[in-house]
Amino acid sequence: MFGNINSIIDLEKRVENLRETDPTAYAILKQIYRFDSGVGSQVIPDSFKTKILDYFGRRDASGKIIETPEEVVARIENQEIIRITNKWTGESTLFNSLRVDRPGIKGTDVEREKNHISKLITKSEKGCDFCHPEKYTPEDVFGRIHGKHSITAANLAKYDVWSSLVIFNNHNPLKFTLEEFSDYINTSFAWFEAVNNHSPQFRFPFFIWNCLPRAGASQVHGHCQILMSKEPYAKVETLNKTYQNYKRETGNDYFQDLYRTHSSLGLSKKHGDICFFASITPIKEKEVIIISSKNPSKDLDAKETIFKALRCFIDILGVFSFNLSISCPSMDNKEELPYVIRIVDRGSLLKSTADMGGMELYGSSVVADDPYILINIINSVF
Ligand SMILES: [Zn+2]
Repeated sequence: MFGNINSIIDLEKRVENLRETDPTAYAILKQIYRFDSGVGSQVIPDSFKTKILDYFGRRDASGKIIETPEEVVARIENQEIIRITNKWTGESTLFNSLRVDRPGIKGTDVEREKNHISKLITKSEKGCDFCHPEKYTPEDVFGRIHGKHSITAANLAKYDVWSSLVIFNNHNPLKFTLEEFSDYINTSFAWFEAVNNHSPQFRFPFFIWNCLPRAGASQVHGHCQILMSKEPYAKVETLNKTYQNYKRETGNDYFQDLYRTHSSLGLSKKHGDICFFASITPIKEKEVIIISSKNPSKDLDAKETIFKALRCFIDILGVFSFNLSISCPSMDNKEELPYVIRIVDRGSLLKSTADMGGMELYGSSVVADDPYILINIINSVF
């Protein structure tokens, strides 16, 4: 990838190109983002070079290293870094040429992980409370919402005052059709309505799907978290404030400009009225952002877009642990904010190291997967 224009590392070249070819897009991009790049240099002692070749040498399909030791060492000794910062939200991500360049999960690793997950799913089915939700989960004070392929339950240990679950009929969280997925969304939004009718001061819906334990799920059985709060949660509030500040200071719609920026960089696509893009400031690996002006429970394009992106993660990219969130406007939506859907890869279940460390929690995100590779693969399913 290195040296290729379609790489996040070379983003600044693309941005400079834009200054000539589309000055308006360039101005919007610079209005939202700040770029900072440089080369991190180091010296590898001779005694370490054989190991370096083994760790980082590019390999062919059979696993044979196809680079000379000098080529590998040159790449390691001078690493290009680009840091991208969203000036409005404060989101910031570092990409390193070496990490971006590193080959992704190998075919055999995906097969090993699939086997591991298949065993985990089978094993967890025995004695699974979520397989019998009406018997072994609490219900909300107003009862349950019954979907065709899912049912709601109160959360035994609540995150917040209104914190419940949509439990899928299917135990296997990775097996779902568009019809089933649509039902999960419809059931969630029906619950938001039910809570708002019961307690009108709770008017900010929030939806999250933590899939499998690496993404924070305590139960393997397919389920999503649904919440309703009086005020938006912190990160949703940041988004709402960004939207308002941006409108006040520039007169424009932040989300439209965000999409336009990614579009001018070749990182976005549309499905019907729904925009989506591979974020240039992903929170972690492979973050996709989908923007829908319509309530996803009432819009087939929105459901299809989320569904296709998710299926692409699972079936093509080999992502089995993911977080999906839907930031929603308030129930009355006087501000006309869009629904913002974000999906992120949380790494392989076979890895014992966490995907996030102190940098992500307290500094800036460090990301290896190139948004250009991601968008190309996702585009292929639309
Ligand atoms: Zn189950």
